[in-house]
Amino acid sequence: MTTVVSDLVDTDHRFGRKGHDLRVRVRELNSDGERGHLLVFGAVTDGCLVRVHSRCLYGEALGSDDCDCGPELEKSLDLIQRAGAGVLIYLEQEGRGAGLIAKARGYRESELSGTDTFTSYEALGYPVDARTYSASARSLVELGLRSVQLLTNNPAKVQALEQAGLTVTVVPLSTRALSDRARDYLEAKRRHRKHWIPTDEVPWAPDDTVPGCAEPDQPTPDLGAETVAPQPASSVLAHAAGRDPGDG
Ligand SMILES: [Zn+2]
Repeated sequence: MTTVVSDLVDTDHRFGRKGHDLRVRVRELNSDGERGHLLVFGAVTDGCLVRVHSRCLYGEALGSDDCDCGPELEKSLDLIQRAGAGVLIYLEQEGRGAGLIAKARGYRESELSGTDTFTSYEALGYPVDARTYSASARSLVELGLRSVQLLTNNPAKVQALEQAGLTVTVVPLSTRALSDRARDYLEAKRRHRKHWIPTDEVPWAPDDTVPGCAEPDQPTPDLGAETVAPQPASSVLAHAAGRDPGDG
């Protein structure tokens, strides 16, 4: 296995989380309207875990149980930490790229009209999802990666990485909805954006053997992360398309 060479050494430092340390290097991402940071944990190699994550102030910093953003980030970091290496791309794409004010207006509209967040965005004249991932995908290629295991339920992220020339294996992020509203949001993401959201009828096969990209240099932390089996990107994309019940 070849270790990817990177020029981020002047940011290399120890990152402690849940009682365990991991080295991390950081790079700024600011291209094609995609702003954020690339965090490279440990010694990444081809096939390592990657999470491309969009900021959600409510779900992450404020601990809101109205969406699944916090648990998705938490679980991604658990898995990267357990693998001993991986990449987190944290994008400043709050409110699906429309910003926090648009998100707040969308929440209010949903509250008043009873519609889901995507319908509310449309009613307010916002793009339902303005996020892009092409610069993120290129940054992974620039790291020297040719293949990744992508922690996601979002086909758009898979497509962006594949278009950049990366071979993608999907590792679905199975999280439990924290509330009825979060459950409604997951369902709306499935219907409107074709996200793959596990259901009781069609769950991913549980599997605790998600391979990492490097052996941990310390005892494996008991991070309590549930994992699911990696899936070839092609099967996930086909699955997502097939499960779309159609919005009319
Ligand atoms: Zn959120």
